[in-house]
Amino acid sequence: MAIAWMNAQALRYLTLHCAATPEGRDDKAGAVTAWDKAKFGQPSYHWVIELDGTAVRTLRDDQRGAHTGGANTGNIGICYVGGVDKAGRPKDTRTPAQLATMERLVREYRARFPRLIVRGHRDWSPDRDRDGKIEPHEWLKACPCFDVAAWLRGIGL
Ligand SMILES: [Zn+2]
Repeated sequence: MAIAWMNAQALRYLTLHCAATPEGRDDKAGAVTAWDKAKFGQPSYHWVIELDGTAVRTLRDDQRGAHTGGANTGNIGICYVGGVDKAGRPKDTRTPAQLATMERLVREYRARFPRLIVRGHRDWSPDRDRDGKIEPHEWLKACPCFDVAAWLRGIGL
């Protein structure tokens, strides 16, 4: 299957994800990409952040990802390994190394694309009650299992 191209100069969004793998299990980017290829016929994300903070580039910025249903054009996807506890419940399992790498990547993209909108996968859920906020009862899934807006405020972005 061919990966669709997109204009990397027209990036509008950056969406953060988790791999929904159990806390502490050291799955590598190659494994995450293999699961995505089996499911979507291509890598889903532009970057996968492993437990030790290693950022692995899995798509170029001018290749369209497969990470946010119906909204992949102009949308960079970054996924951290983890995201559920050992019982499979949603949990922010980002290690200090993953946090540092995620912050560095988001800062780099924001520096290149100052108007980039950064959000979590769950923030793309439909606003069913139309109050202008995407609330927990509206989330289609919990991914990335943390509040992206609060995290960005916390790091001054
Ligand atoms: Zn996701």
